[in-house]
Amino acid sequence: MKLNICHMYPDLLDLYGDRGNILTLAARCRWRGIEPVVQQASLGEDLDFLGMDILFLGGGSDREQGLLVQDLMRRERELRNAIENGLVVLSICGGYQMLGNYYQMANGEKIQGLGIIDIWTIAGVKRLIGNVVVELDERVQSVGTGKVVPPRTPGFKSKTLVGFENHSGQTYLGEGVMPLGKVLFGNGNNGDDRQEGVRYRNVFGTYLHGPLLPKNPHFADLLLELAILRREPNTSLQELDDGLEELAHKTMVNRLMKQA
Ligand code: GLN
Repeated sequence: MKLNICHMYPDLLDLYGDRGNILTLAARCRWRGIEPVVQQASLGEDLDFLGMDILFLGGGSDREQGLLVQDLMRRERELRNAIENGLVVLSICGGYQMLGNYYQMANGEKIQGLGIIDIWTIAGVKRLIGNVVVELDERVQSVGTGKVVPPRTPGFKSKTLVGFENHSGQTYLGEGVMPLGKVLFGNGNNGDDRQEGVRYRNVFGTYLHGPLLPKNPHFADLLLELAILRREPNTSLQELDDGLEELAHKTMVNRLMKQA
């Protein structure tokens, strides 16, 4: 089996090791005998969203977001269609903000968003920086539609995510929009409502850099399982030995929760 993974705007959206998420997804495929086909596409380059299994958007400064917005808006209809068809998307910070209605920068200027998810972002006076621990919403780790269906992939399971944030944007979720989870340590979406990230269909948005996936292998496998189930509904992923990843995850969660 092959899995098509695309890193969009790798030259503009790649902060705090975000590219490591692509490396993690590709390695976890290879360790299972699945061939990862990794594509990169930036300004003006053609993309076939319907032929893709996983799309990745990293984080970027306000300047980078301003540079890519026109190119991204040109693709709005195709991307929205693929997302409504279940495309798996991981979007981090600046990339996450661009999936929403708009991002209003500190200078008051608004960067238009794709409006695919009913969220909006307004820059705050203080940057939200530091480590983060999130307690995942039970519905987020579901591979089913409608009712909660736990992932079938055996192996390390955790109800938390751990990562690093650095953003001025404060994101708010519209009525009924599902957050990724509750902030146990750090700021998350806006430092006020204790929510972090978002899930819409198979789209996951989060402020967690780091990169996110190496210390959260259960989340990497959720993305892979969702992508594989779209192609072969009766397939499940082989278990991997995640001893090191598990240790890294638990060490960071324990260390931070002691400070909470
Ligand atoms: N420029 C955005 C902000 O400051 C996103 C930053 C990021 O991707 N780390 O909020």
